Amino acid sequence: MTPSNIIIVPILSENVLKGVIELGSIQQFSDKVEHFLSKIGENIAINIISAQSRYQMRVLLEESQKNTEELAVQQEELRSTNEELEVRSQSLENNEISLRQQKDALENANKQLERTRQEIEKKAKELEISSRYKSEFLANMSHELRTPLNSMLILSEQLAENDEKNLTDDQIESAQIIYHGGQDLLQLINDILDLSKIEAGKMILDSQSLDLLSFSDMFKSNFKAIAAKNDLDFHINLSQDLPHSIETDEQKLAQIIKNLLSNAFKFTAQGSVTLDFKLIDSKIAITVHDTGIGIPKNKQQEIFEAFQQVDGSTSRQYGGTGLGLSISRELTKVLGGTLHCQSVEKEGSSFTLSFPLKKSQSKENVKPPETNIEESLPIPTKEETSLPSDEQDKDLNLKNKKILIIDDDMRNLFALSGALQKKGMEIFKAINGKKALEMLDNDPAIDLILMDIMMPVMDGYDTMRAIRAQIRFKDLPIIALTAKAMKDDRGKCISAGANDYLTKPIEINKLFSLIRVWLSKKKNH
Ligand code: ADP
Repeated sequence: MTPSNIIIVPILSENVLKGVIELGSIQQFSDKVEHFLSKIGENIAINIISAQSRYQMRVLLEESQKNTEELAVQQEELRSTNEELEVRSQSLENNEISLRQQKDALENANKQLERTRQEIEKKAKELEISSRYKSEFLANMSHELRTPLNSMLILSEQLAENDEKNLTDDQIESAQIIYHGGQDLLQLINDILDLSKIEAGKMILDSQSLDLLSFSDMFKSNFKAIAAKNDLDFHINLSQDLPHSIETDEQKLAQIIKNLLSNAFKFTAQGSVTLDFKLIDSKIAITVHDTGIGIPKNKQQEIFEAFQQVDGSTSRQYGGTGLGLSISRELTKVLGGTLHCQSVEKEGSSFTLSFPLKKSQSKENVKPPETNIEESLPIPTKEETSLPSDEQDKDLNLKNKKILIIDDDMRNLFALSGALQKKGMEIFKAINGKKALEMLDNDPAIDLILMDIMMPVMDGYDTMRAIRAQIRFKDLPIIALTAKAMKDDRGKCISAGANDYLTKPIEINKLFSLIRVWLSKKKNH
C-alpha cells in the first residue's frame, strides 16, 4: 500500500543523533501518537547507547580475557624460566662453594708445602752441619790415627831392614808383618777419608791436560814389580786413534785405574793383566782385563757397594776392605763417566771405565813442575811402597846436612831422626815452634826444616811465618809434614811459607827425594 502519511522521528541523546524512526500510515497520525513518538526518541537513544556500550564491553571483555590467557601463558613461561634460573643460580652457588672449598684446599696444600719446604731446608742445614762435623771428625781421627802410624811404619821398616844384623828371621818377619799391617791400616784410613769426602760432596773435579802416553807409562813402572813377582804378563795398549793428550782430573783417574789394577793382580794367580786405552763413540774407554778367578754373575753389581766382597767371610783368602770399587765408582761419577764390570767365573774379569773425551787445548802439559809426589799419587798401593829404593848413590848429597825436625810427638821425632841419621844427616829436634826459633837463632846454619803442623804453644803455620819473617831464612827450605788430610791443608802450608808438603804417615823414600830436591835447589841459589 502506498502510505498517505509519513512521520520521521530523530533519535537524539544529548543532541547527538543516534538514529531515525520513519513510520508510514494510510491514516492521519493523531496528536497522541505524535506526542508519544516525540517522547520515546530519547529512551530509544539511551537503549541504543547502552546496547552499543554493552556490545563494546563484551568485545573488550573478550579481548581482556584473551589477554589474560596470554598473560597466564607468559607468566607460566616466566615461571619456568625463573625456575630454570633458580636451578642455575643454585648450581652456580654450588660451584662457588666447591670453588671456595678447592681454593681452601689449595691454600692448605700450599701452606703444607711451605711447611715441608721449611722442614726440608732445616733438615738440609742440619745435614750440612752434621756432614761438616763428620768431615772435621774424620780429619781429626785420621790425624790421630796417622800420627802413631807414622812412627810405627818408619820403625818397623827400619827393623825389618836389620841393618845391625842382630835380628832372627822370625823377628824380621814380625817387623815386616807390623809394617804391612800398618800399610793396610793406612790404606783403610785413606779409603774411608776418600769415601766420606765424596759423600760430603767435597770431591771437586780438577781438570788439567794429561799426556796419555806418559800417564800409561806410570802404571807400567808402578806395577811391573808385582807382575814379575807373581809371574804374570802385564801389557798396556793404547789404540792409534787416541789423542796425545786429554782434559781430565789426572789424580782421580789414576786412583781408579790403580785400584782396578791392584784388584786384577790380587785376584789373578796365572795368566795376564792388560790395561787398554781405547776411543769408543768419542769416549775414552779404559779397560783392565785379567785372567783371574772372576766374579759370579749375582755379585757383579754388589761388589760396587761399600764393604762388599765376593768372599766376605772371616776365613777369606784375599785381603782388602771392600771400599776400592765403591770409591772408584764415585770417582768415576765425578769424572762424568761410568764403570762397568764383565766377568766369567774362573776365566777372568774386565772392568771398563769410560768417560766423554775432552781434547786438551794445548799440546803442552800445563801442570806446574811441582816436586810434590804426594799430590799426584796420593794413595800408594802396597806394591808401590815396598818397591826397593835404588837411590843409594844419591845419598852423598844428604850426608852431614843439618836438618831441623819440629814435632811435638816424641815417637815421630825418634822415628824420623833415626831414619835420617842413617843417611848421615845431622839432626836437630825441637818440640814446638818457640823452641825451633831459639834453635835457629843459636845455629843459623840449618840446611832444611821438617815442620809438623799441629803443635801446642806455637803451631806450624805460625812458626813458618815467624821464620820467613827473618830475611836470613828467606831461602831456607821448609817441608811441612801433616797428618791432617783435608783439601786446603796444602794451600795453607804453602801460603804460610812452606816450600813443600807431605802427609803423614811419611813414606820415607818420598821424604828423601823431597829433601834431595830442596837441598839442591838451595845450593843453586
Ligand atoms: P777389596 O779389593 O778391597 O776387597 P774392592 O771394592 O776393590 O775391595 O772389591 C770388592 C770385591 O770385588 C773384592 O773383594 C772381590 O771379591 C771383587 N773383585 C774386584 N775386582 C776383582 C777382580 N779383578 N777379579 C775378581 N774379583 C774382583
